[in-house]
Amino acid sequence: MKKARKDRRELARFIEPYRITKGGKFRLKDHDPADTGGLGSADKPEAKRLLANGVERLAELQDRLYASNEWGMLVVFQAMDAAGKDGTIKHVMSGVNPQGCQVHSFKQPSAEDLDHDFLWRSQRVAPERGSISIFNRSYYEEVLVVRVHSQILARQRIPPSLVGKQVWDERLEDIAAYERYLARNGFAILKFFLNVSRKEQKRRFLERLDIPEKHWKFSSADVRERNHWKSYMEAYEEAIRATASEHAPWFVVPADNKWFTRLVVAAAIVETLERLDIAFPRLTDAQREELSMARAQLSKE
Ligand code: ATP
Ligand code: MG
Repeated sequence: MKKARKDRRELARFIEPYRITKGGKFRLKDHDPADTGGLGSADKPEAKRLLANGVERLAELQDRLYASNEWGMLVVFQAMDAAGKDGTIKHVMSGVNPQGCQVHSFKQPSAEDLDHDFLWRSQRVAPERGSISIFNRSYYEEVLVVRVHSQILARQRIPPSLVGKQVWDERLEDIAAYERYLARNGFAILKFFLNVSRKEQKRRFLERLDIPEKHWKFSSADVRERNHWKSYMEAYEEAIRATASEHAPWFVVPADNKWFTRLVVAAAIVETLERLDIAFPRLTDAQREELSMARAQLSKE
């Protein structure tokens, strides 16, 4: 028990440097993708142990979330390709009960999506009380890929008189308002930017080309997107600056070392659930009475 508490304190050390709740001073260049929080490769076994504990604790906390059925949680993952979104989601959520956890991947919008406002498709799969919704990409694509490739915006058929120079600031404002709305309704929001370096992305792409089992992951479109790296980083920086808040913090997670990425993500989710301080529902006297009647009835059979 004491050890568990110590581990929890230990984990906190891997959250704070990466949590952004106020965007004003945020600069992406202050964040090193290769950072491992002072851990070296010799500490990897200890990091693995902490991650395993974190995952176990996450499962316990999710059980409570599910049973109490009041709070819900939205976890957003954004990143450049090959930053490790899929693997992180798979590892960190490996212990949770699938009944109370949904993963939604946001790809290019369908014709039906494009017939609606840009938050429509997210709201359709917004988290339920008692459950955790994971967005693998999200409505943030609307101020990232759409901003970098403005021809995508043209396809959205917004009346031209409404699309001016301010369009990105307006979208960011709408996103911040949407998150505040969800938070006020009892949904905890965490947003992870897996911060991989351009150099490490190249290494991972080459690995996909070298290893047959990884060929399926390779896409030449992803390589083309590397040419827009700088624009993407600017778009990410602006998005984080405009939408970081206490109720919907961003975590800028170093992503050049997968083992460290996973540790930070697990720690942040656990800590957020821990802070909600959810107890299993307490029974009323009437409910307790009902239980003992059921027990009596069963034992008579
Ligand atoms: P993986 O490659 O690991 O399977 P992925 O998330 O990269 O996962 P892809 O199908 O390769 O999945 O890519 C989805 C693409 O859809 C991305 O390039 C993303 O930028 C794009 N996308 C997501 N949301 C939008 C949006 N609202 N408007 C335009 N493009 C979008
Ligand atoms: Mg992809």
